[in-house]
Amino acid sequence: MEQYQGKTVYPKIAIGTVFFYHKKETPVQKRHIDDPEAEIARFQAAKKTALSHLDVIYQKAEKEIGKDDAAIFQFHKMMMEDETYLEAVCNIIRLEKVNAEYAVAATGKSFAGMFAQMDDAYMQARAADVKDISGRLVAVLSGGGADMYLSSSDLRALASPVILIADDLTPSETIQMDKSKILAFVTRQGSVNSHTAILARTMRIPAVIGVGIQEAWAGRTAIIDGHTGTVILDPDTETLEQMTAKMQEDEKKQQLLQALRGKETVTKSGRKIHLYANIGSVSDIAEVLKNDGEGIGLFRSEFLYLDSSDFPTEEAQFAAYKTAAQRMGGKKVIIRTMDIGADKQADYFHLEKEDNPAMGFRAIRICLERQDIFRTQLRALLRASAFGNLSIMFPMIISVQEVRESMRILEEEKARLRREAIPYKDVETGIMIETPAAVWISGELAREVDFFSIGTNDLTQYILAADRQNPRLDGIYDPRHPAVLRAIQTVIENGHKGGAWVGICGELAADTTLTKTFLEMGIDELSVSPSFLLPVREAVRNLD
Ligand code: PEP
Ligand code: MG
Repeated sequence: MEQYQGKTVYPKIAIGTVFFYHKKETPVQKRHIDDPEAEIARFQAAKKTALSHLDVIYQKAEKEIGKDDAAIFQFHKMMMEDETYLEAVCNIIRLEKVNAEYAVAATGKSFAGMFAQMDDAYMQARAADVKDISGRLVAVLSGGGADMYLSSSDLRALASPVILIADDLTPSETIQMDKSKILAFVTRQGSVNSHTAILARTMRIPAVIGVGIQEAWAGRTAIIDGHTGTVILDPDTETLEQMTAKMQEDEKKQQLLQALRGKETVTKSGRKIHLYANIGSVSDIAEVLKNDGEGIGLFRSEFLYLDSSDFPTEEAQFAAYKTAAQRMGGKKVIIRTMDIGADKQADYFHLEKEDNPAMGFRAIRICLERQDIFRTQLRALLRASAFGNLSIMFPMIISVQEVRESMRILEEEKARLRREAIPYKDVETGIMIETPAAVWISGELAREVDFFSIGTNDLTQYILAADRQNPRLDGIYDPRHPAVLRAIQTVIENGHKGGAWVGICGELAADTTLTKTFLEMGIDELSVSPSFLLPVREAVRNLD
């Protein structure tokens, strides 16, 4: 039995087999080659090897998950032998005199882009497959064995869920994983305030970060104790028994909380607040409903962009927002316009590398400069508003001008819809308060919008000058710092004076040791990961 200590992200226990997750993408260098025909021969040989790897994976998958689910790997073999794909790779090698790795990566990217643009949902889904086969080919070309390239399809092929260990996981990798196959995450890198950590909490997946994981752990039994941040490898019988009992206790607590479903979020003396949920995608709504969310206080729409290999079309976005509005059945659904940038990067935005991305070109700054992207999203949101109770929220605001400009564009898109006789409802509009600038001018901002939602995750990093992504600063990055709490108080007071209601959607909203403080400050709404809805309701109901 071996024991390792890390930092906890979500307090739950998991017991299972370890699976080592290799990065999906092998870094690709562009190299000049003198003999394109020899390079093509190298590519053909790699293709043969990759096809044999797919055979092995298919056979294993067929045994473990059955013919139907394993069929994806047969399909990948067909794609790998597709004439158009192969021709495209060979043309790049011949015409540009470049190495095969580069030609495959470039072809994969352009084919994935083409698929993503298609109207048909089935064809759109092929974008991930072509990326997958290209990644596999690049891995083989770079000298990797059959297990070098483990993608989300390999994860799909596992018979039972696993404890996934990785050096690091980006938000886009995490969002693309088949969560039903994951018992827990353990990573070497990462910070408790990162979006990957937030996703783990949303999905109620125990996660521990900052652990010196090793590839050799693959296949061994482990216990992940998300309460203490401990990873136990090859547990002895006594430890297994103890942890199984602890797991059962957790489940009992969860069941007790279920008794709070259908009850109001109200203190003993009758003070009510709205208890909403944070989500990253439509698939999280099931958890919101299961945990009796009274609405959605933050739909991080950028995950739609991260889960896509090109800009999501108006239709694709409309479908997602409409589903959210309909599934919430008239309850409030606040959708934040895309907050791409900082740790949430999508390649196809082609954003320049920045020294300081958290303070860089992100969120509303991109939207106001690249208005085509913004207008597509606003149109999709407005069209979806006809199907429920949607609100629109703008992130990373620092000035009144930004709000006015965003509203002006929103009004223009409404006017266009009217001209086209496309129905929409007049939505509530609000802004995230997540910059110190927004705190100080919250009095002026309140007159421009219907509501504020305080984003304590970013607000903390900007007030304390402490990067939320930097694990070394986990001790310094303190959302409970008096400066942050005073900022929250100021925003609530200024918001109310200006006629705006005020909520908190940062992770701090779920800190039940502060629920009393927030209510005393006059908060109107708390929006938390679905897994924290019932614990927060319990905390409110226990207050006088
Ligand atoms: C925040 O900053 O608190 C917030 C809710 O937004 P995000 O975590 O997505 O940056
Ligand atoms: Mg934020």
